[in-house]
Amino acid sequence: MTDFQATRARFRIPDGVIYLDGNSLGPLPVAAEDRVARTLAVEWGGQLIRGWNSAGWMVQPRVVGDRIARLIGAPAGSVVVGDTLSIKVYQALAAALAMQPDRRVILSDSGNFPTDLYMAEGLIETLGRGHILKVVAPEEVEAAIGEDVAVLMLTEVDYRTGRLHDMAALTTKAHAAGVVTVWDLAHSAGALPVDLAGTGADFAVGCTYKYLNGGPGAPAFIYVAPRHAQTTQPALSGWMGHEAPFSFDPSYRPGEGVERMRVGTPPVIALAALDAALDVWDGVDMADVRRTSIALCDLFIELVEARCPALELASPRDGTRRGSQVSFRHRHGYAIMQALIDRGVIGDFRAPDILRFGFTPLYIGEAEVCGAVAVLKQVLDGGLWDRPEYHRKAAVT
Ligand SMILES: *Cc1c(COP(=O)(O)O)cnc(C)c1O
Repeated sequence: MTDFQATRARFRIPDGVIYLDGNSLGPLPVAAEDRVARTLAVEWGGQLIRGWNSAGWMVQPRVVGDRIARLIGAPAGSVVVGDTLSIKVYQALAAALAMQPDRRVILSDSGNFPTDLYMAEGLIETLGRGHILKVVAPEEVEAAIGEDVAVLMLTEVDYRTGRLHDMAALTTKAHAAGVVTVWDLAHSAGALPVDLAGTGADFAVGCTYKYLNGGPGAPAFIYVAPRHAQTTQPALSGWMGHEAPFSFDPSYRPGEGVERMRVGTPPVIALAALDAALDVWDGVDMADVRRTSIALCDLFIELVEARCPALELASPRDGTRRGSQVSFRHRHGYAIMQALIDRGVIGDFRAPDILRFGFTPLYIGEAEVCGAVAVLKQVLDGGLWDRPEYHRKAAVT
């Protein structure tokens, strides 16, 4: 059984704060502070450019990728880290489309995160081959999979409601119709068990600043199924994905396997923070995380429904059909969330009316769930949210 008291001690959470937003930005792992300080002083400061070899900077994207692979059911050597998730979505989708020269439809759903859809639109323009982005309701995805579809591009957990797709079933159905799959694990990696190898997914991408606690703007990851890795065509053929970057050939040759999904120079300092953040997962069993997360979410739903009847549940009630977050709707959701944050209960808001609360067993327990509901009840019963400053929209919600 995972020791969640021990994992909690590995994070810095300010006194008086109940942090229910690890689904958007994980908190600072204590180990990341020392690690980044050492990377700056000893590696950059002391080793200067020699650090690319002596401090292992050049192999970091692959080394850190292997650590993430373990958390998402992927074999070693199938994941690399770098760039933002938007870029990784573009790369994965481009590679998937290249495998399907005779099909034109990219199938996604309205629960997908907008940047994934925007990147698909941009790629379609760039390719200029008449691809179509077909966006259906989440519950209609299965029926829309057919032999006209080139690529099924989905995010496993809906960022707004937490609804969880059945990745294994949809991948099986897609493959039976000859469809290549791209799964976005932004709200899955570190939140619930993922079995990329077992489901047979073709490509996957994900975030490291959410449940993996890599820090604001931490680099994303990309997985390429080993059966495709040697034939995948990289759309962003940067020198770090070249077979031999330091031979400085005038023309591109893809690197070995998933290495070809690297693009440019890796963000060494950000990778150091992420590498240290991944230490937290040593000794953590993802099945324990899942069981505890479902229990915490269930408790939150039960207490909120009993004490805050003005809120309407927006997440699936069945914990096995949900990620690691709970969302409620309220017309004044934004102002209510600002009032909560002002009182130390930090969640977030997603337009038009969703209050979103993430539950991360690594540092959240029943006491925080009960504490958060008590504050939520106060805010609603006393109408404490209805103050001008809580209605003023900030740039980031
Ligand atoms: C958080 C999230 C992103 C963010 O992309 P960035 O390029 O890192 O800003 C993209 N897709 C999904 C599904 C997300 O949840």
